[in-house]
Amino acid sequence: MGSLDTQLSPENQKWVDLAEKLSREKFAPRAKMIDEEARFPTENYEDLAESGLLTLSVPKEFGGIGADSLTYVTILSKISKGCASTGLTFNMHSAVVDFMLQIASPEQQEHYFRAVVEDGAIFSSITSEPGSSFRDQLAIRTSIKKDGDGYRLDGRKHFCSLSTGATHYFTWSYLDGARNIQEGLLNVMVPAGREGIEIIDDWDTVGMRGTVSNSMHFHNVRVEPGEVIGEPGGILGKDMSIWSLGYTAVYIGIAEAAYEFCIDYVKKTKFRGMEKSIAHSERIQAQIGEMAMLIENARRATEKLGMLRGNLSKMELTFILNQAKYLATEAAKELAERGIRLCGGQGLLRSFPLERHLRDAMAGLVMPPANDRCLETVGKIALGLEAKTLDFK
Ligand SMILES: Cc1cc2nc3c(=O)[nH]c(=O)nc-3n(C[C@H](O)[C@H](O)[C@H](O)COP(=O)(O)OP(=O)(O)OC[C@H]3O[C@@H](n4cnc5c(N)ncnc54)[C@H](O)[C@@H]3O)c2cc1C
Repeated sequence: MGSLDTQLSPENQKWVDLAEKLSREKFAPRAKMIDEEARFPTENYEDLAESGLLTLSVPKEFGGIGADSLTYVTILSKISKGCASTGLTFNMHSAVVDFMLQIASPEQQEHYFRAVVEDGAIFSSITSEPGSSFRDQLAIRTSIKKDGDGYRLDGRKHFCSLSTGATHYFTWSYLDGARNIQEGLLNVMVPAGREGIEIIDDWDTVGMRGTVSNSMHFHNVRVEPGEVIGEPGGILGKDMSIWSLGYTAVYIGIAEAAYEFCIDYVKKTKFRGMEKSIAHSERIQAQIGEMAMLIENARRATEKLGMLRGNLSKMELTFILNQAKYLATEAAKELAERGIRLCGGQGLLRSFPLERHLRDAMAGLVMPPANDRCLETVGKIALGLEAKTLDFK
C-alpha cells in the first residue's frame, strides 16, 4: 500500500513502472552479490543505459527524460528498493547533470549530456576531502594551477562514489594563488583513465559497499581548458538540493524493501500448533502498523519535497529538505532494525536481506546533512533563526 507515485503524468508513470520492473527483476536479485563483492554494479548501469533511465535528469532537448523532482524521487526510490548502492550512486550521477544544467556553458551541456544519452556516460561527484567537514564551511584544498592553455590538478579526495564505475569525475578544486573562494573554486570534469589518477582501494565498509566510494589521488593530472565547467565560483549559491533530495528517495527505497519483506515473512510464517500465520497475531499486527506509520511519515515528507522543490524560498526549501532527509533515513534504519526484531534470530541471517538493509541505512544517518545537523537546522528555522545547510571557504 502506498508509494511515491501519485500525481504523475502517464508518460512519467511509464518510466516509474519501468524502473520498478528493472529493480524487482534485475537489481534486487543481484544486490546480495554486489554487497558481498563490494564492487560497482556495472550490470545494473548497463540496464539503466539500455532502458534509457540513465538519462533521467538530462533535459528532453538533449534527448533525455528530463524528469521533474517528484518523478525523480519516485524513480530513485524504486531503483534503491532493489539495490541501494545503485540508487545512491545514481543520485551522484544525476546530481552532476543537475549542476551542469546550472553552471556549464551551452557547448559543455551539449557535449556531456549527449555523452550520457548516446554513449552511456556515467558521472561521479567528487567533493569530499580528508580533514574537511560538510557541516559548516567546506574547505576545498585540492589544488589546480595553470599549465599552458589548461591546468594541472593535484590533491586527495575521499568517499568518491563510483570511483571504479564512472566515465567522468566531476571534481571540486581551488585555483593556486586565488584571493578568495569566489575566484578560486573551479569545478572540473576529468575523464576516467587520465594519467595521474590513482584510485586507492580503501572502501571496506559496513554498508553501501557497492558504491565503491574509495579515496582518490590526483597526481598533477592534466585538465583541458574545456574541462573546467562554467566560471570560477560559478557553483556558489546554486541549488545543491538534489543531493539531499536523492538521499531521501534512496532511504525510502530501503525502508520499503524492509517493510515488504516483513509483510511477506509474517504472512507465510507459522509455528507448530498454529492454524494461521503469525500475521493473525495482534502483537505482530501492531508492529507492522508501527512500521507502516513510520514509512508513511517519511514518504509524505519526501513527496512534499518532490512536489514543491523549485517553488520555494531558500529557507522553506532548507526546512523541508532537512525534514525529509532526516525522516527518510531514520525510517530506513528503524524499518530494518524492527524487521530484524520481528523475524527473530532468523532476521540476522545473511540469507535474509534485513541485515544488509540495516547496514546500508546506517550510511544515511551520517551523509550530509548528517541527521544531528538536520535537527539543528530544522530547529533553527522553526525558531525564526538563520540556517544554512552548507557553505564553502
Ligand atoms: C556511502 C557514502 C557515499 C559517499 N559518496 C560521496 C561522493 O560520491 N562524493 C563525495 O564528495 N562525498 C561522498 N561521501 C562523503 C559525504 O558526503 C561526507 O563528506 C562525509 O560523510 C562526511 O562525513 P565525515 O564523517 O567525514 O565528517 P563529519 O560527519 O562532517 O564529521 C565527523 C564528526 O566530527 C564532528 N565535527 C565536524 N565538524 C565539526 C566542527 N566544526 N565542530 C565540532 N565537531 C565537528 C561531527 O559532528 C561528527 O561527529 C559519501 C559518504 C558515504 C558514507
